[in-house]
Formats: sequence, C-alpha cells, structure tokens
Amino acid sequence: MSVSESLAQNCYHPDRRSHIDLQDDVDEQQAALLEKICPAGLFQRDADGRLIFHHQGCLECGCCRLMVGDAALSAWRYPPSGSGIVLRFG
Ligand code: SF4
Repeated sequence: MSVSESLAQNCYHPDRRSHIDLQDDVDEQQAALLEKICPAGLFQRDADGRLIFHHQGCLECGCCRLMVGDAALSAWRYPPSGSGIVLRFG
C-alpha cells in the first residue's frame, strides 16, 4: 500500500478553525523545510508563491512544530476535543 493510499484510510473530523497558524512572514528556508517535512503535504504555495497551510488533513504528528517551532508557526495546538484525525489501529 502506498503512502497516499494509507493516508486515504484515515478518518478526519476537522474543526472550522485551524489549530496551526503560520507567522505572517515566514522566511524562505523555513517555508521550504515545512513543504518538505509535512508527511501529509499540507504546506503548499499559492499562485503568488506564498506559503499556505491546509489544516483539514493534519496527522497531528508534530513534525512541523519540532522542525521550525516559533520561527515559522505562531500557534500549534491540538484540535478541540471531538475534532481532528481519528487514529485507527490494526
Ligand atoms: S502536525 Fe504533522 S501533519 Fe500536521 S501540519 Fe504539522 S507536520 Fe503536517
């Protein structure tokens, strides 16, 4: 099973508000790192090349927080109870 197929097995209950926020001015090195390390590919570029984030498919793994922390993220918290990813075991 590919990574994409595996990710498609997950079940999400996204909150309307993002639980992760980008700083207003993320430097290019941090932006490139976020694009590369997020296993769900949620950090992308808009048509003008600015970094954008889609919170709906977040795996809540914390890689982005560990790699860039406050340098690029103004907030990182878990989604409210009852929302976010539903992990499946087995
Ligand atoms: S917590 Fe993990 S899946 Fe969610 S945005 Fe950060 S790196 Fe991507």
